[in-house]
Amino acid sequence: MKIALEVAKHVDKVRINPGLYVFEKPKSDRTEYAQTEFDEIGDKIFETLEPLVVSLRDQGKAMRIGVNHGSLAERMLFTYGDTPEGMVESALEFIRICESLDFRNIVISLKASRAPVMLAAYRLMAQRMAALGMDYPLHLGVTEAGDGEYGRIKSTAGIATLLAEGIGDTIRVSLTEPPEKEIPVCYGILQALGLRKTMVEYVACPSCGRTLFNLEDVLHKVREATNHLTGLDIAVMGCIVNGPGEMADADYGYVGKQAGYIALYRGRDEIKRVPESEGVQELINLIKADGRWVEP
Ligand code: SF4
Repeated sequence: MKIALEVAKHVDKVRINPGLYVFEKPKSDRTEYAQTEFDEIGDKIFETLEPLVVSLRDQGKAMRIGVNHGSLAERMLFTYGDTPEGMVESALEFIRICESLDFRNIVISLKASRAPVMLAAYRLMAQRMAALGMDYPLHLGVTEAGDGEYGRIKSTAGIATLLAEGIGDTIRVSLTEPPEKEIPVCYGILQALGLRKTMVEYVACPSCGRTLFNLEDVLHKVREATNHLTGLDIAVMGCIVNGPGEMADADYGYVGKQAGYIALYRGRDEIKRVPESEGVQELINLIKADGRWVEP
């Protein structure tokens, strides 16, 4: 608490964890939680939280009420179990304290290390807030997602599912890797959902018996040459049988035409046929001719 109060002087937003804010020592022999005891701790939380809320409120700063599935308070665990409901009630208790002190500059997070748990918690929170007439932004994340490919898949499964449902205002991908590795994943999630466009969108077919060139190789070369052109959609398709129709309205297409030749497309129109060896350079020339090229 003292740390939070000091930190509040120096940063724009302070995150507090309701589960740890007023520490309740777990009693292993507890069989019930009397309402009076529940409320007493509630009063203690109010007293402890008030100075921080007042400080943030008076400075025009923000607070994140960051509930974590793994560290729910003893009495929430006892009353609601280790459940999304317990997470939501924990957040609501802190929101009510903030509101009673006329402080509404709040962001809520309900992270869990399991995607289904965080999905359930955020969905329930969105429902509860709608029912209560609250409209606080939700900060999404799967906590302790791990590293590597699976850490990214797990984070995306949780974050993207909610964003696609219209739930969530800010996101964080938490990887057991240097923090700068988290940012491209966030950008990728937003771009894949069509919520932001921060890089070139590549459309490429998976290749099949009809493929007329080494698709992986060409996609790699096209990407190397064009990945700085934010805002464009570029397709690399193996053949003209299905390629042009499946380019999904890309701005430019590089499509296998016949052995040794590719066709360049602008939108749905075939612009020219060129030898495969000149394909990437001709694609660049076409983008340049359209005035859409910028030097890397
Ligand atoms: S676009 Fe052509 S080469 Fe690519 S997967 Fe479809 S049919 Fe095969």
